[in-house]
Amino acid sequence: MNIHEHQAKDLLARFGVPVPKGVAAFSVEEAVAAVDSLPGPLYVVKAQIHAGGRGKGRFLELPEGAKGGVRLARSKDEVRAHAAEMLGNTLITVQTGPAGRRVQRLYVTDGVDIDREFYLAFLVDRASGRIAAVVSTEGGMDIEKVAHETPEKIVTLTVDPATGWRPHHGRRVAAALGLGGDLAAQAADLAAKLYEAFVALDASQIEVNPLAISGDRLLVLDAKMNFDSNALPRHPEIVALRDLNEEEPAEIEASKHDLAFIKLDGNIGCLVNGAGLAMATMDIIKLSGGEPANFLDVGGGASKEKVTAAFKLILADPAVRGILVNIFGGIMRCDTIAEGIIAAAREVDLKVPLVVRLEGTNVELGKEILAASELDIIPADDLGDAARKIVAAVKGA
Ligand code: GDP
Ligand code: MG
Repeated sequence: MNIHEHQAKDLLARFGVPVPKGVAAFSVEEAVAAVDSLPGPLYVVKAQIHAGGRGKGRFLELPEGAKGGVRLARSKDEVRAHAAEMLGNTLITVQTGPAGRRVQRLYVTDGVDIDREFYLAFLVDRASGRIAAVVSTEGGMDIEKVAHETPEKIVTLTVDPATGWRPHHGRRVAAALGLGGDLAAQAADLAAKLYEAFVALDASQIEVNPLAISGDRLLVLDAKMNFDSNALPRHPEIVALRDLNEEEPAEIEASKHDLAFIKLDGNIGCLVNGAGLAMATMDIIKLSGGEPANFLDVGGGASKEKVTAAFKLILADPAVRGILVNIFGGIMRCDTIAEGIIAAAREVDLKVPLVVRLEGTNVELGKEILAASELDIIPADDLGDAARKIVAAVKGA
């Protein structure tokens, strides 16, 4: 789960991480009023969307050359003008895709003079199975580009969970940033606090870019936080930060039915039980020359209600030209699944080709039930056969 920059900074501030003062604003008036609680004379008006690259982003509704989603202001009038231009408009960044995101809230912060911009992130490193700190002197810009072109400028260190964060980790962060004296001490302290927040909040990512030197202080100017959704039941205060405006409507609907659903860009809808099988299904669709429209795992006990909800979700995407159902009846029997598919297909008045591959307990009975229905179902014998048939059906349509 993702949260906004202002929420991440509020959380981090509770752990003692230094962040500039700021106020979230949902209207132009709130943005202007925020100025009264900030020291000035410089302010930053920042679009709050769940995507980075806002500074270099552009607004769909504004003319070419207009400012992006992070803007400096020196007076209330400038804050008002920026807020009015941003709120309600669509910000397109390298991370939003061409459709962009509608800006529905702003963060008005104290503006600081920046001497240098660094990069500091914490994430779960799968290869080592540890929390890793990623440090670079090349902050402020696209870290992927730095990783690609000058990988030696990125230092990664991992933390043994048995010992946790130790002073030597902090010294290595400071050294990687080329800092000495008090700034080195601040970097070590700040990194230790980020690590503490990471563990305490069950984060999966904390990305600070830029971590800025402003005079004699080190400050977090931008923060992106992600959380392990499996740990959310332990953190109701984080769940409360969820912003449904930032989530894919289909994925919100899926979560209501306890379906694991991720929307993708292709045109073949997938209805599968089991995450591994769902991924294998997407792979084999691609291998056969097709593009999956979604990842969908209906889970082990796929009831008729769940299958119906899944069909509705898949068909709500206008790009879908065909559906591949790939179910392994282990705990669930194939005949029960077949009945569920038929009932669901009838209820949603299915108009696109439907390929069904069933395997497992009572598979013969399941296939008979599908064949006996008046529905136009294309049966498949195995995974490869199913993928080839749905790709052919979609291409022929
Ligand atoms: P992003 O573009 O979505 O990553 O948004 P950031 O919050 O990182 O802001 C983009 C850029 O705006 C930063 O890299 C800074 O260069 C600049 N910026 C952000 N806050 C301040 C500030 O307080 N003062 C100044 N001078 N620049 C800032
Ligand atoms: Mg940034």
